[in-house]
Formats: sequence, structure tokens, C-alpha cells
Amino acid sequence: MQIADQTVVTIDYTLTDTSGDELDSSREGGPLTYLHGAGNIIPGLERALAGHAAGDELSVTIPPEDAYGLPDDDLVQALPRSNFPPGEITVGSQFRADGPDGAQVVTVVAVDASSVTIDANHPLAGIALNFAVTVRDVRAATAEERRHGHVHGAGGAHE
Ligand code: ZN
Repeated sequence: MQIADQTVVTIDYTLTDTSGDELDSSREGGPLTYLHGAGNIIPGLERALAGHAAGDELSVTIPPEDAYGLPDDDLVQALPRSNFPPGEITVGSQFRADGPDGAQVVTVVAVDASSVTIDANHPLAGIALNFAVTVRDVRAATAEERRHGHVHGAGGAHE
């Protein structure tokens, strides 16, 4: 079966940046299973996988526009130091904050006596991504999966 909208796809992958440094891999967490055509993975990877079948291997470079987007200056904000708990805050530390789209990871990019500057861009914003992918399985989505817009069962949303 070929990968198309309304198929459930299982892949192994290794993600590296353009310097060849590994950012993520399915080796630790196990293969990724997703519902194709539902926006569950980054658009560039979804497009590259369309038409492939189990056993196929592909390498694809995805520009930031088709991955996690370009950094947005508006997401870098200086906040009063008093908004933060007392104690040391260091550049590079990350924490979860409530944003318009739910909890997100923000990174401290500058600290001075009166303010803390945080960057709420996705950590991979602005970065081109190299994916080496092996397609493990392709099956038709169930009616319930199509309704919910995500995969059920092993690796799925309701385990
Ligand atoms: Zn569901």
C-alpha cells in the first residue's frame, strides 16, 4: 500500500541538522506512527513520504518554512525580573509556560538585574532538517481514526 491521505504510516527516522549533528531519532523512543494527511507531522516530511511504501528508504532535507517555521521576533520578549521566582536564572535554561496554543517551551536568552528575556520560538525554528527515513508499515486508517484525526492502538493517542 502506498502512503496517501487516510493511511496510517509507521517510520523509523534519524533527524540531523545541516552540520550532521543528530537532533532526534526513533532508536530510543521506537518507530513513529502517524495518520497521513492530518497535519500530525511537519508538512515537508509529510509531502516527502507521500507515494512511498513499506521498505522504502529516503533522505530528505526540509527547509525551516516546511518544518518548524522561521523565528518570529515577536516571540522574543523581555519580562520583569519580578515575574520570575527568586533564585538564579541562567541563559539557556528552558521552562514550560502557558501560551496562546497551550503549554510551550521557552528559552531564556538574556538576563539582567531588572528583566529576563525569553524566546518562545520552537527550538527548531529557522533550522533546516535532514531526515533519513525507513518506511516500516502502511495501512488504511480505521473510520474512527479518520474521524479523530489521529492514530489509535500501539503508538496512538488513546493507549
Ligand atoms: Zn482518538
